[in-house]
Amino acid sequence: MTGPISPSSLNPKSSNNALSFPFDNSYARLPTAFYAQQAPVPVAAPRLVAFNETLARLIGITPGEVEDMARVFAGNDLPQGAEPIAQLYSGHQFGHYNPQLGDGRAVLLGETVGTDGKRRDIQLKGSGPTPFSRQGDGRAWLGPVLREYVVSEAMHALGIPTTRALAAVETGEDVLREVALPGAVLTRVAQSHLRVGTFQVFAARGDVQNLKTLTQYAIARHYPQANGPMGLLRAVRDAQAALIPAWMSVGFIHGVMNTDNCAISGETIDYGPCAFMDSYHPNMVFSSIDRGGRYAYSNQPDIVVWNIAQLATALIQQFADKDEAVEEATEIVHAMPALLQENWLRNFRAKIGLIREEEGDLELISDLLTRMAENQADFTNTFRALAGERARDQFTDPAAFDGWAKNWRLRQERENDPKRVMKGANPAFIPRNHRVEQMIQAAMAGDYSPFHRLNAVLARPFDAQPEAADLCHPPSSSEIVHATFCGT
Ligand code: AMP
Ligand code: MG
Repeated sequence: MTGPISPSSLNPKSSNNALSFPFDNSYARLPTAFYAQQAPVPVAAPRLVAFNETLARLIGITPGEVEDMARVFAGNDLPQGAEPIAQLYSGHQFGHYNPQLGDGRAVLLGETVGTDGKRRDIQLKGSGPTPFSRQGDGRAWLGPVLREYVVSEAMHALGIPTTRALAAVETGEDVLREVALPGAVLTRVAQSHLRVGTFQVFAARGDVQNLKTLTQYAIARHYPQANGPMGLLRAVRDAQAALIPAWMSVGFIHGVMNTDNCAISGETIDYGPCAFMDSYHPNMVFSSIDRGGRYAYSNQPDIVVWNIAQLATALIQQFADKDEAVEEATEIVHAMPALLQENWLRNFRAKIGLIREEEGDLELISDLLTRMAENQADFTNTFRALAGERARDQFTDPAAFDGWAKNWRLRQERENDPKRVMKGANPAFIPRNHRVEQMIQAAMAGDYSPFHRLNAVLARPFDAQPEAADLCHPPSSSEIVHATFCGT
């Protein structure tokens, strides 16, 4: 059996140091209505299975002995300066408002300010019940913990804003889903855990004072240049209007873009039933609970506008003159589809090697995507191959590609260095669903080598890595994962 920690992931020097966190907590200073004090609930037998030393250093944490880290990242020991709280929020889930959600299985240990000057939350996920657990057990099982670890770190390496993974611990306890599964805790790092739903909960309660406090807090923490609630709305709109096209440009489907999973910071948050597409189809859905396709791949821009409209609705509640605020907010929200489209176009232009903006580019890109969908072309491999010679092989009918490529080559003549542009925009490696599932199966059998290998390869997604060619292959018919589950 492979050891839990890959040899390269821990600096031997670090064992001389004591694990320490330079906490500088701000959320715990907010009014008590914002959270419940809640310590993580200790687990039976913590075992550290992953630790992200690069991220630890960035956020100011000094790594320590493996046993100490296992206890801290399991929630058995509280590091000095931690002020553990479960945050309150609400949100629309699949379009239905749920007046109270909150951290039902997570606690915020506190915040640090990193070597880059950025403030970040350090949160344990799967750390036991809280006052917001409702019917849940407050726990997570190993599969989703490792999935979030790999996929969020891959997302970061792709250059897309996201929460990150600092550590994963096996708890030595079973959690009951449909069957008994090994329990785990993920340590998640985020620029904050403020969500659209954090605003909604105070707005829905008519708690204007706390809504104002939250607005000021969010501006100070994320968008210090923003002017008032409408400035904040504009800033969040812009961040989300950049994020969703970035997802789409790598074939990512979030799967559960509820308003409580829509971050004010503009980071991707909550890797539940998410997946990267293999063969392209605009209506692709993975989540087993998304029966109506609300969060399908190409529906994501519409849904994020809907989410931002909910943020607008919440923010408006703090204005005395609501009519004027409604008017301004409406304008801000109505401008969002055009921003999404603009960002989408820029991303996809780059994917086919174009920098100049020309009329007809949208049609050219759409034509390719239509042909890809009709020919079950692999999303990642088709775009990656555009800079080489073999793109046509990705199509069940290669002539469908040739028909498109004639126009594309003509258009490319008006570009400087399309190959370089494409290489920077089209990753070779994404966390393919079947590989993630295989990695989880191996880890459950005690073999963490696929986990470490995936992390290492996905850390350099744009580099050709011939020794990892197997990780580029789409799934064989028996490997295809048809659904990802929310049973997290
Ligand atoms: P999610 O689907 O992960 O965004 O979670 C939605 C809500 O359900 C959040 O309030 C979570 O804290 C809560 N939740 C999810 N799983 C559990 C669990 N096992 N125990 C308690 N609460 C949970
Ligand atoms: Mg969530």
